[in-house]
Amino acid sequence: VNILAIESSCDETSASIISNGKILNNIVATQSVHEKYGGVVPELASRAHQQHLIPVVNEAISSSGINKNELSAIAFTKGPGLMGSLMVGVSFAKSFAYALGIPLIAINHMEAHILAHFIDEPKPNFPFICLTVSGGHTQLVLVRDHLDMEVVGETMDDAVGEAFDKTAKLMGLPYPGGPILDKYAKEGNPTAFQFPISDMPGLTFSFSGIKTAVLYFLRDNLKENPKFVEENLADICASIQHTLIKTLMQKLKKAAKQYKIKEIAIAGGVSANSGLRKELENLSNQYGWQVYIPKFEYCTDNAAMIAMAAHYKYQKSEFCGFDVSPEARMKI
Ligand code: ATP
Ligand code: MG
Ligand code: FE
Repeated sequence: VNILAIESSCDETSASIISNGKILNNIVATQSVHEKYGGVVPELASRAHQQHLIPVVNEAISSSGINKNELSAIAFTKGPGLMGSLMVGVSFAKSFAYALGIPLIAINHMEAHILAHFIDEPKPNFPFICLTVSGGHTQLVLVRDHLDMEVVGETMDDAVGEAFDKTAKLMGLPYPGGPILDKYAKEGNPTAFQFPISDMPGLTFSFSGIKTAVLYFLRDNLKENPKFVEENLADICASIQHTLIKTLMQKLKKAAKQYKIKEIAIAGGVSANSGLRKELENLSNQYGWQVYIPKFEYCTDNAAMIAMAAHYKYQKSEFCGFDVSPEARMKI
């Protein structure tokens, strides 16, 4: 069984081939057009997907050593994501599958972020809890089986990745700010400055408060000292990162306790954060958790995770019709 998978939900155009459950490659074209705007511009993203998609798919097929006539199915991201971006991937997948006379598999991008854990060893044991932290989502997911997942907690407002990016932007750092903030945080004191930790009920998160708190904090300090940010950059970054991680870990601990689960996974772009990875290691020692973190290239948007999800759906013959449409707000 050979499946071609396509990811185009946001600003990464990606294609991957999976053969009998084994990922053969993962070709990713990252769009750089958005950098100068400080965020993803949807219309530019769709156009860039149109430019990148065919070269990316060609490279995935040619480097796999598999002929396109040997493909068994084509998988694509149905949602959630930007409508125009999704549309490019869905339209291409439909036409290609129709031309080859093979079935289509529709994939939920957030489920795929979690199933990235099944690409390499060690794989988490069921049931496990996955903290999915990305640019658009912050979710606690109870994973009972590959295709049996339940969101047990999520954010009321901003995603944690957004909080990283927006606070970084307030400090004048380029987009996307998350990885840059992480880099400066390594040299700073995480308790130099205090920011509020949101107090939400149950397993609900909120990240809009810290954004506002950082805005006023910077404004007040810059009034006193115009060089405040330059002089304290590492400490500010470390303090923001510390607060964001603490907020995440509070709810993760609560979920682990509530469901009596010690198999803990993280997924999504923010799982690349070095502070988060370190804190998870600490907690795994403290609480006897078994912690799973995917390889970096499988944390951010990629088609290998779409291919992995497609592998499980193919086994259950979960195909979709050719009248399928993208779903910008698709839920798990
Ligand atoms: P979604 O998956 O919710 O649709 P997305 O696909 O845009 O959103 P990802 O590509 O999974 O999100 O992740 C991108 C996010 O990860 C950005 O907000 C980025 O700043 C953040 N990020 C990446 N690396 C790091 C890091 N080292 N520290 C903090 N944040 C990071
Ligand atoms: Mg992205
Ligand atoms: Fe994503």
